[in-house]
Amino acid sequence: MKIRNREWPARGLLSLVLSASALSAAVVPVVRPNPGSPRLEPLRHGPALALYQAATNYLAQVPQAAHILQRLERSATTYRVEILDLSINGSVAAANEFDGVQNLSRWDPGTGLSWAGGLNCRRAHSAAIGLMHELAHAYHKEVSPARFFRFSHSPTSDQWRNLEEKRTILHIENPIARALGESERQFHDDDGSFGCERFATTSPTSTVRATTRAVFKPMPKRDPSVEQKMAEFLRRRRGTLASSGA
Ligand SMILES: [Zn+2]
Repeated sequence: MKIRNREWPARGLLSLVLSASALSAAVVPVVRPNPGSPRLEPLRHGPALALYQAATNYLAQVPQAAHILQRLERSATTYRVEILDLSINGSVAAANEFDGVQNLSRWDPGTGLSWAGGLNCRRAHSAAIGLMHELAHAYHKEVSPARFFRFSHSPTSDQWRNLEEKRTILHIENPIARALGESERQFHDDDGSFGCERFATTSPTSTVRATTRAVFKPMPKRDPSVEQKMAEFLRRRRGTLASSGA
């Protein structure tokens, strides 16, 4: 399945056409050139972009994943994916996440997730499935922002954290992981209580452990500012609905 090309074009007329296509892409890989600054720049070449393309090409083999990627690519909304580029001095990996206020996913292409699957058995999924999970949140926001925010703010007292995580894992992440021969999980572990561990992999589409030491921080909590922004968005939205009599 073809995913829109994000290579920065060469020269000539063709380059103008491709350049317009790249600029209109609704899923834009970006990078943070200065880890101390919030500024993000489109990622147009280099190894980090190649990792992203390897992951999306791998995922797009599954029709459900291809559909989600295409829906986001064709959206009128721009969805950015901040890709961790450890070649940038000072870059530190944190949890993958989707910020529904900024339509920004954050993805570390170098780490998979592993968890206990039973007696002496560990299961794992690749960094690509981690990317799929975040893009699935973006897809839910694209299809229905109201439902996305409502579900994100519907906590569950069980292993799912909230209804948005539950439907994302059960209805998108797991079927796609299964189709690709990867493990399915029955929980959302954002604090390590289910024994999840992030580990360095040999490639974004593999669950083979890299021999290099992992350079991320294990499963940190989400950026609380994201939650605050979401709550503020909902308050504003409710205010607008109330004042319009809806
Ligand atoms: Zn999630």
